[in-house]
Amino acid sequence: MFATTFGSCPSCGDGHLLWPERKFHVDWDESQSIEHGPDAIRCALEVLAAAADGSPGCNEPSLRILVASTYEAMSEMRMGAWAQRQYRKRRQSGQDPMLAQETVLYVFLSMTLMWSSMYATASGQGVDKVLEFVTDQANAAATSIPQERRQAAESLLVAAVQQAPEHGEDLEGLFSALSLSCRMLEKLSKHLRGNKTDNQVGILLAAANYALYAGTLVSRMDSV
Ligand SMILES: [Zn+2]
Repeated sequence: MFATTFGSCPSCGDGHLLWPERKFHVDWDESQSIEHGPDAIRCALEVLAAAADGSPGCNEPSLRILVASTYEAMSEMRMGAWAQRQYRKRRQSGQDPMLAQETVLYVFLSMTLMWSSMYATASGQGVDKVLEFVTDQANAAATSIPQERRQAAESLLVAAVQQAPEHGEDLEGLFSALSLSCRMLEKLSKHLRGNKTDNQVGILLAAANYALYAGTLVSRMDSV
């Protein structure tokens, strides 16, 4: 998972460098906290790397391919309406694995939380304050993403932060709350205007921006 580059990017054909440094990342190979698809995690890391090395144009196509292939796989399962509802319920309650795009969202938001809290500790600020700064900055900068989708991304993050205390202390509780919050991506995307694929891609891009801002803060820590 943690090669220095990700091989050839589906959009530009080049390899993007892992960003920020490896030492700032969750060890996804070791992490047992969620049953996650390695391809989805790799896609999330690649999107971050591309955004950080000045190739943000690579991000949207990668995310779109991921979302489209999930729905292709689901349509091949040929489930009836009842079976689909059951499948969705099992996923949302945590009994079944997340969809690939929900895993990508989980990676973006958990990196945002982790990096924000690292920066908060290093700078002596509260995590809430750093998170607020990160989401405000990122939302204000991402004007190409419809506001509804930016708000949806923020609402999933806020829901996780609010529910975290019920899930345990510190980051562990946050990650656990986040894994349930991210499972609402598909459901939420259906309630927004527009089609669910566009909505999910937009929410993912907004969440990637949060991670990008938080990652920029930690990657500056060493030089301070
Ligand atoms: Zn690329």
